Amino acid sequence: MRKKVVAGNWKMNNDLIMSNDLIYSIKLKLNKDNDTDIFISPSFPFLNESIKHCKGTKIKVLAQNVNENKSGAYTGEVSLSMLKSIGIDSVLIGHSERREYYHETDDILLKKLSNSLDEGFKVFFCIGESLNDRKNDLHFDVIEKQLKNTIFKIEKINHENLIIAYEPVWAIGTGLTASPDQAQEIHAFIRKNIAQRFGENFSNNISIIYGGSVKPDSASDIFSKVDVDGGLIGGASLNAQDFVKIVNSI
Ligand code: PEP
Repeated sequence: MRKKVVAGNWKMNNDLIMSNDLIYSIKLKLNKDNDTDIFISPSFPFLNESIKHCKGTKIKVLAQNVNENKSGAYTGEVSLSMLKSIGIDSVLIGHSERREYYHETDDILLKKLSNSLDEGFKVFFCIGESLNDRKNDLHFDVIEKQLKNTIFKIEKINHENLIIAYEPVWAIGTGLTASPDQAQEIHAFIRKNIAQRFGENFSNNISIIYGGSVKPDSASDIFSKVDVDGGLIGGASLNAQDFVKIVNSI
């Protein structure tokens, strides 16, 4: 049985008070019987406190990034062991903003992915094509290349420790959403490739979630698609009511 997953990517938004308020409001609105895995990702300075506020709830706390090195002279960076020491056990890797603004290549992302899995972290790994790729009909090639350069290089993965987020770059923060059929087409393609690399059992059990301007009124159509197991939510995750509506759309 594949897990349904909804994760909020808060990015560089919210100060301490706003983060705490948002967690408080999500907790109030969330249906306790919900069996979807729910993640939020406050910024690094607030992770520790957020974990305490989420204790005993259905909400898990996800780190937005981690450095690919274990420790040492990397000013301003955060390591897996630091995250582990405050109780974080899941991390977002490969977001297009990290790829684009911080020049994170497939090689760097592979290192982050491999180290995180070795340390027992659950990884949300993002892949997705640019607008140009899509216009030039290269989206399948780009997705396949991203998979081959990263996830497919890992020898053995437990499907519970990996969630693939398909995030077409042209849909992130733009208000443009892939249509449910476009999302399904790519999700099915990812699942087929995963089956070829890791086997049918693995591919039937791995969660593949969609991200790109999902809003409360578009979520249920996208989530209704057979290979879409949930969403990675940016803008709409900053509003408790919208986020919980999206969670309830699964
Ligand atoms: C994201 O940044 O992962 C994302 C999906 O953002 P948005 O929902 O705002 O497009």
